[in-house]
Amino acid sequence: MITKINHIAIVVNDLDVSLQAYHELLGLPIGARKVMAEQEVEIAFLPAGDSLIELITPITEESGVAKYLAKRGEGIHHICLEVEDVEAALAEMKAKGAQLINQEPIQAAEGRAFFLHPKGTHGVLIELLEADPQ
Ligand code: ZN
Repeated sequence: MITKINHIAIVVNDLDVSLQAYHELLGLPIGARKVMAEQEVEIAFLPAGDSLIELITPITEESGVAKYLAKRGEGIHHICLEVEDVEAALAEMKAKGAQLINQEPIQAAEGRAFFLHPKGTHGVLIELLEADPQ
């Protein structure tokens, strides 16, 4: 069902500063960048081989990500695992009694996705994503 790690997401205070740091320190190319108005975040990608590093910063003070950043500071936010079929993955997770954050797939930057609650995954927020065709 899971085909690869699509991305690892890191919450940061300042997208420009962190993007430059990851680019200069690790030599990763700077990829796509976009504002996700619904989630109240701006994100930027750095391709790393077959996967991506995703930097996220809040654009409002009330978003979930803003609260996360205020409470925990910068660091890893979630791991995104890619699946072939998001509906099938969601049905399977429901059948297995997984603790879900989304009961239906949401529109993510890279495709359709849903999140598993960290309570059920030993402390890690997990995103399951069906990526849009490139
Ligand atoms: Zn993600």
